Amino acid sequence: MKVQRLKDMQTLVSLCKRRGFVFQSSEVYGGLSSCWDYGPLGSQLKMNVKKTWWNAMTRRADIVGVDAAILMHPMVWKASGHVDGFSDPLVDCKNCKQRFRSDNTDSYLEKKQCPFCGSKDLTEPRQFNLMFKTHMGPTEDASSVVYLRPETAQGIFVNFENCQTTSRKKIPFGIAQIGKSFRNEITPGNFIFRTREFEQMEMQFFVKPGTDAGWFDQWKSIRMKYYLSLGINSDRLRFLPHETLAHYAKAAVDVQYEFPIGWQELEGIHNRSDFDLSQHMKFSGKSLEYFDEAAKEKYIPWVIETAVGCDRLILAVLCEAYREEITVDEKGAEDVRVVLGFKPDIAPVKVCVLPLSKKDELISIAQDLRESLSAEWETQYDESQSIGKRYRRQDEIGTPYCVTVDFDTIQDKAVTVRHRDTMKQERVLIENLNGYIFNGMKKDF
Ligand code: ATP
Repeated sequence: MKVQRLKDMQTLVSLCKRRGFVFQSSEVYGGLSSCWDYGPLGSQLKMNVKKTWWNAMTRRADIVGVDAAILMHPMVWKASGHVDGFSDPLVDCKNCKQRFRSDNTDSYLEKKQCPFCGSKDLTEPRQFNLMFKTHMGPTEDASSVVYLRPETAQGIFVNFENCQTTSRKKIPFGIAQIGKSFRNEITPGNFIFRTREFEQMEMQFFVKPGTDAGWFDQWKSIRMKYYLSLGINSDRLRFLPHETLAHYAKAAVDVQYEFPIGWQELEGIHNRSDFDLSQHMKFSGKSLEYFDEAAKEKYIPWVIETAVGCDRLILAVLCEAYREEITVDEKGAEDVRVVLGFKPDIAPVKVCVLPLSKKDELISIAQDLRESLSAEWETQYDESQSIGKRYRRQDEIGTPYCVTVDFDTIQDKAVTVRHRDTMKQERVLIENLNGYIFNGMKKDF
């Protein structure tokens, strides 16, 4: 058997559409560029991925969660530097009217020519602010301007004191948040890799100045372990330290994943010094200093940040999970089994129940079984087409177990459990099924 990994993004985009993971936004109107909707399976996958991150963070004794509003006081973005500095250099091609970023476009950097038509008739780069602006309330003037947040981190910084005092955490401790961010990206694309609306999973870890370098290293290794726990192969993960740092940053590294489009950033890990809290102190006039009871000293905490895009992680998880198993029979006919080899905890469906035939007595047992299993697991039921075709449908969406109800089930109260990866089949008593799945999901995948 030959195993073929994902070769190109288009194969994944088609599978995602065909099987209900991801659809183009507003498709009936021709779609809205760079916006995507998660379908029945995609929304469950996203929920599961978020849960792994949330649990990995907030089940630690030293991290609490927060869920801040998307709209924030406009001064937040003045203090954070986004109003004045959150921009990319934009160039217009006067020939084909396309726009592109000048700082990451090879043909522009090398030959000062348009990447779309090759023309050299271009405008000078202009700074283009990436924040989406809107108005709050009935009047649309300068005083009512608010922004859709371009990152979730600021909702954590401005809640630092609220979270610290109410949870009575002592430094070092962190605050984790999952939520939508919006950036008016000049060149979005590559499916859900870069979009204008996306979800971030960010954690800011507040530490005593001087301990920041040690925590930065610790968080690098904690985050790498997290990606390995999702089933991502270490060969396709690496750290890439930033060559140039933001003026306030003391260290920054990207966790990169090898997508079919090449090595790209998945997560940023940053030592942000005391920049953010200091800025909010300056702009709000409120003290955000921390009083260290034990040492009897006051200081502004430093921050180690870990920031990953949920959608980008889902793309990585999908790319990693996709495989084609190609076998050729004695007559030379090729068979391709497409499998999404998710780790069971992120698989959108854990079990599918299949009656061997459409006879009433099998259907009723199978439907009852689906209902009882769904108290524990995301469960599907499928009675249409041959059993082989039904297995393949589940393989293609990454379901770890298929459970087949046959005529023997009526007598022996047992079912045949088929494993996604090995295709091995085992007879299991219905009363033992939950335990079997529970143990199997931990050790078999
Ligand atoms: P880039 O350089 O790719 O624009 P960034 O360095 O500005 O990204 P951060 O601000 O550090 O990104 O955001 C943290 C994470 O959020 C990124 O590692 C990425 O996973 C995700 N992210 C950022 N921008 C987008 C986007 N437009 N679409 C999807 N995910 C994004």
